[in-house]
Amino acid sequence: APAGDTQTESGELRTADGVPILISININDPAEIDTLDPATAGVGLMRSEFSVTSLADAANEERQLAIYRHVMEQAGEKPVTIRMLDIGGDKPLAGLEDLPTLDSGLRGIRLLLARPEIARVQARALLRAAVFGRLSVMLPMVTFPDEIDRMREIFREEAEKLGRRSLLHRMPPIGMMVEVPAAALMLDTFGSAAFFSFGTNDLAQYLAASARDDIDADAGKAAPAVLRLIAQAVKLTSGKPVSICGDMAGNPSYLPGLLAAGLRHFSVAPARRPAIRSAIIGLNADGTRAAGE
Ligand code: PEP
Ligand code: MG
Repeated sequence: APAGDTQTESGELRTADGVPILISININDPAEIDTLDPATAGVGLMRSEFSVTSLADAANEERQLAIYRHVMEQAGEKPVTIRMLDIGGDKPLAGLEDLPTLDSGLRGIRLLLARPEIARVQARALLRAAVFGRLSVMLPMVTFPDEIDRMREIFREEAEKLGRRSLLHRMPPIGMMVEVPAAALMLDTFGSAAFFSFGTNDLAQYLAASARDDIDADAGKAAPAVLRLIAQAVKLTSGKPVSICGDMAGNPSYLPGLLAAGLRHFSVAPARRPAIRSAIIGLNADGTRAAGE
């Protein structure tokens, strides 16, 4: 490797002062897994709503299993975090147009719990896919701890049903997106979450009362508030794995603030990985610029 290239084949990368950093990738289209760079730590976020785009897909356990299984097999030894369907709000699902999802607050995990038949099919497909690699399941738009408990119960019940049918399955760790300000402020109360990943796209939107792709939020006006909230929330994670998968993670200008907040695992769009990787090499773990940089 060239001098200064501190990311090894295993995906290991260090800050200038030697603190290990992980860079995973976000995937939307599941075909993106086929070009997974060996230096990537894994898949930090697979948005399943790009694989399950209609009510018919949502009801099709075998189709979902085939997609998730393929992703697991392509990832091999690397960990993969698949996020359960994040629909409602800005993310429609064909066939669900009749639901009062827009502006009703019914989205992400709340929608899944309101339509448990959708959640149960996906839970079964994920439980079965977990056999093929290192799967974690992530819950979208979690606001209150009981939402995790209720989803865990769904996984437990569906695992029991799969067991009765002698279908191979495995219980994956179940963690949560931190993208609703109320959850970020109260992160120490989410005892049943196995891990946390910050979603800055929604966090910025809901902190700044902006539109999702608001130009000011994009340009960074909301970023100081988002960074301060993340820094506070990281202190509430009680040693559980924590990462960031929102778009701020893929923008090198936020890296000093995110490192200073204590983040050590960044999940970014594949195209953003090289820029983040080189920026990390030039920074200390406290976010300051390394001497000579
Ligand atoms: C986020 O909100 O930052 C996030 C990663 O989720 P999505 O972009 O899919 O809403
Ligand atoms: Mg989000």
